[in-house]
Amino acid sequence: MGERAKQTFESYIKTRKLFIMLLTSYHNHSDYSDGKASVQQMYMAAKQSGLHEFGLSDHWIKPDDPDCAFRSWGMSWSRLDEYVEECLKWKKELDDENFTIRLGLEVDHFSANWEENIKQLQNYPFDYIIAAVHFVGSFPIDHRAADWEGMNQHEVDTMWRRYFAKVRDIAATRVYDFLAHLDLPKKFNFHHSAALTDDIEETLQALSQNDLPIELNTAGWDKDCRSPYPDLPLLKRCCELKIPLLINADAHHPAHVQNHFAEARALAKEAGYTQLCRFEKRRRIMQPLL
Ligand SMILES: [Zn+2]
Ligand SMILES: [Zn+2]
Repeated sequence: MGERAKQTFESYIKTRKLFIMLLTSYHNHSDYSDGKASVQQMYMAAKQSGLHEFGLSDHWIKPDDPDCAFRSWGMSWSRLDEYVEECLKWKKELDDENFTIRLGLEVDHFSANWEENIKQLQNYPFDYIIAAVHFVGSFPIDHRAADWEGMNQHEVDTMWRRYFAKVRDIAATRVYDFLAHLDLPKKFNFHHSAALTDDIEETLQALSQNDLPIELNTAGWDKDCRSPYPDLPLLKRCCELKIPLLINADAHHPAHVQNHFAEARALAKEAGYTQLCRFEKRRRIMQPLL
């Protein structure tokens, strides 16, 4: 191809790219943590479903107290090398012009030792690191409804308040690529009262000011709350504050890799979003939401 033709072709591709959306899902689990299928089974299902980019993000739970019970559904600490090697092995095998495997991890944030945890993870070629809050102190937010039952509204609000304070801590660190399931404590329908309005606004401002993207996590639609994380009012406010967004299935099973994705895209548009983001080697790339 002559130089001029090449330039024309490249600019054509550039223009075309403005009108192409890559279907991505980055928050998913294998049996390295609490997923129900192997790495290979999850990748094969993602590829067959037509996703363009797919990543596993198994749970990395490393609290400062090594004896605490938090670890039960996280990846064994000694298996991180094996996890990364296995993901990269399948990446080599399955990546092609229509499908790319991304390497990720869902990391529980602990205020006492997050720096140490992140330092360890910097030795690996992750495309993205997700920050999550599944624990407030030693309280497991999304484990069982029974943990919430018996609380009065004041106690429920206090749990939400502490949860959002941890989310603000996450935003302030500026070391994560996006935040998981923004309003997770609603999972079992223990909703906060109107007293939380200011805490929520402060939290969304912190995400915005620290430029930390959120996800529209579709798994909530199939939980007791029957609503994605976050719900529409929160999502609208996030959009107003220009907090970048991804859509993820949080699949723990091969059959769920694109659960509720059409609904999620419609909801994101309804909230006002016109773009989504994706990641490559911890670099954020914006793309149109179509
Ligand atoms: Zn999670
Ligand atoms: Zn997850």
